[in-house]
Amino acid sequence: MSMFGTVTVKGGKYRIRGDFHHITPNTPIRNEDREWQLVGVTNPRDMTYIHTYGGEAVFFEGLCQGKIHGSRCDNPGCEGKGTVYLPFRIHCPDCLGRNTVVDLTDVCRTTATIHTFMVCERSGAFNTLDKPIRFINVEFDGVSTILMSYLSVGEPKIGMRVIPIFRTLDPTYTITDLSWVPDGTSQDVLPKGFHL
Ligand SMILES: [Zn+2]
Repeated sequence: MSMFGTVTVKGGKYRIRGDFHHITPNTPIRNEDREWQLVGVTNPRDMTYIHTYGGEAVFFEGLCQGKIHGSRCDNPGCEGKGTVYLPFRIHCPDCLGRNTVVDLTDVCRTTATIHTFMVCERSGAFNTLDKPIRFINVEFDGVSTILMSYLSVGEPKIGMRVIPIFRTLDPTYTITDLSWVPDGTSQDVLPKGFHL
């Protein structure tokens, strides 16, 4: 019996358990117009990828705790000193120094507005978001970058005040654990597993 591949880190090394490759049977591809002659085979292969967050891990850890971390350059020799980044940037793009982690949860709760948006009726493989997907670019006071995310309640408008919500129940540890709703939205209309 196969089990999902799981990974932990011990002594600075990955400890891998379970199955990371799943082979399922080939099936023949046959030509309906030529007496069902064999043309080829399907070749199903499922793989589990091991994706390391590295210096961004603190950001994804924060989401399932209801926190949004950004980063800031504190290098006194950098022209961009004091610049705050969200999405989280490990390094300053100007001086390439290591940025300081900053908690931007309150900034996000009190100053987030929709910079622009797009509504997508269709999506690609492995999409887990409900369609149509209301993608929003969110801007914040004092932050130099805008954050790509999605609106879970209502219809987006440019300039609309929004507040973050977090998937704290059964988190996926991915960026979809963070979403947004119009300011003033109550807990009872949030998607399952999300909290203000
Ligand atoms: Zn810098």
